[in-house]
Amino acid sequence: MLPVIVLVGRPNVGKSTLFNRLTRSRDALVADFPGLTRDRQYGIGRVGPGPYVVVDTGGISGGDGVEMLTERQVQHAIDEADHLLFLVDAREGSSSIDLEIAEQLRRTGKPLTLVANKVDHVDWETAAGEFHLLGVGDPHPIAATQGRGVKALLDQVFARLPSTAGAAEAETDEDETDEDETTGAATKIAVVGRPNAGKSTLINRLLGEERVVVFDSPGTTRDSISIPFSLGERHYQLIDTAGMRRRARITEAIEKFSVVKTLQAIEACNVAILVLDAHTGIGDQDATLAAHLVDSGRALVVAVNKWDGLDPTERRQIKEAVARRLPFLDFAEVEFISALHGSGVGLLLETADRAFENATRTLPTPMLTRLLEDAVQEHPPPLVRGRRIKLRYAHQGGRNPPIIVIHGNQTGDLPESYRRYLINRFRKALHLFGTPMRLELKSGE
Ligand code: GDP
Ligand code: GDP
Repeated sequence: MLPVIVLVGRPNVGKSTLFNRLTRSRDALVADFPGLTRDRQYGIGRVGPGPYVVVDTGGISGGDGVEMLTERQVQHAIDEADHLLFLVDAREGSSSIDLEIAEQLRRTGKPLTLVANKVDHVDWETAAGEFHLLGVGDPHPIAATQGRGVKALLDQVFARLPSTAGAAEAETDEDETDEDETTGAATKIAVVGRPNAGKSTLINRLLGEERVVVFDSPGTTRDSISIPFSLGERHYQLIDTAGMRRRARITEAIEKFSVVKTLQAIEACNVAILVLDAHTGIGDQDATLAAHLVDSGRALVVAVNKWDGLDPTERRQIKEAVARRLPFLDFAEVEFISALHGSGVGLLLETADRAFENATRTLPTPMLTRLLEDAVQEHPPPLVRGRRIKLRYAHQGGRNPPIIVIHGNQTGDLPESYRRYLINRFRKALHLFGTPMRLELKSGE
C-alpha cells in the first residue's frame, strides 16, 4: 500500500501550493472534461520517489491555527499518516502558533519533517536558526511555488519512512510471487464507492457466490488488505478498502470510510469496480471518486447497485444521471446490479476481466496508422495559420492504460475537440472499453 504523507501547518504557509506541486496531474488531457472536479485535499503524489498519498489538512479543515488539529477529520488524517510534513513560513519566522502545533505534533509520535517554505527572498542561513527552537529537528528549506528543494525533501522523507511501510510493500511483493506460482496471475480488484453504496454487500456476494473459493490465508483476517478467491479457472484478489467485512452497524460505514484507503486500493488494483447507489442517485462524492479513478488510469467497471425495487421511470432517471454527472466515465461499461439479491453480480467479474484485458492489449502499428488515416480522411484536422495540421502515423506508446502516440506536424496546435474525436474513433474501432486511453502527440516541427 502507498505511504501516506500528511501536510500540516497554520494557514498561509503554503500547504496547498506544495500539495498542488506534489500531485500535479500526469495527464492534462483529463482536466479538460467538464464536470471533473479534483479533490484538493487528497491526491496521489508523484514528485520524488513516488507514488504516495498526499493529504492537505488545510483543505480538510475550516479552522485556523492550532484548533484545526483537534478537528476530527484532521485527527483522522494524522492517524493515517506514515509521515507528517510540518510547514512553517521562512519569511515570517516562527510564531507562537507554530510552537503549539509543534508540541501537538510531537505528541502524536509520528515521524515528522519540519519544512520551511518560501525560502525564495530570504537569507536562509540567517533565517534557519530560529526554527530549531521549535524542537522538531532541522528545518528543510523549500520554495513550493518554484519547486525548489521539493524533490530533495521527498527523497529525505522516503529514506525515513517507517520500516512497516517498506515492509508492507515487500510483503505484498512476496505474496504476489507466491500467488503467481501456486494459482497463476490473479486479477486485483478494488471495490470502491461512498459509504452505504453497498460495497461490503457486494464483496460478500462475490466471495460467497457460486463456485467461489475463499482461500484460508493468513492475510484474510480482520485487517486484511487482499482476499484471494477463484471463480472457475479465473483467479482474483479483492483489495478491501476499509475492513468493511463483518461490520455490525450502518453508522460504522461512514466512520470506516477512508479516502486514503480508497486511493491506496485504486493504486494497488488492476481493475476498480465503482459502486454507485441507485437509490440515492449520483452525488459530489461519486464525482470526486470518479475523477480520482480517471487520473489513476486503472481499468474500470461501473456497478449501479440497488437496482432492485426501482420502477422503469426511476431506472431511466438514474441512467441519465450517470451519463450527465459522470460524463468522463463514458469509457467504462456499466452493470446494473443488486448486491443484496445477486442479480447482475456474476457478470461483473466477466466485465472486469474484459476491462483489464483491454487495458493491457497490444495494438499493432499498421492497424493504428490505418485507423488514423481513416479518421483524418473522414474529418481532417483544422487549418492553423493557413497550414493544415498533419497527422502521419500512430503507434502504441504504452499499456495499462493504452497510450497511442501520433506523429505529425504542428500537432501542438491540435484542438482538444479533435483529440477527443480521435480517442473516440480509436476506442470504437478497437473496442477499447473499460480502460482510460491517453493520446500523445509528437511533432516533427
Ligand atoms: P496554505 O493556507 O497553507 O494552504 O497556503 P497557500 O498554499 O494557500 O499559500 C499561501 C500564500 O503563500 C499564497 O499566496 C502562495 O502563493 C504563497 N506561497 C506559497 N509557497 C510559496 C513560496 O515558496 N514562495 C513564496 N514567495 N510564496 C509562496
Ligand atoms: P458499504 O458502506 O458501501 O459497504 O455498504 P453496505 O454493503 O454496508 O450496504 C449499505 C446498505 O445498503 C445496507 O443496509 C445494505 O443491506 C443495503 N444494500 C446493499 N446492496 C443493496 C442492494 O442491492 N439493494 C438494496 N435494496 N439494498 C442494498
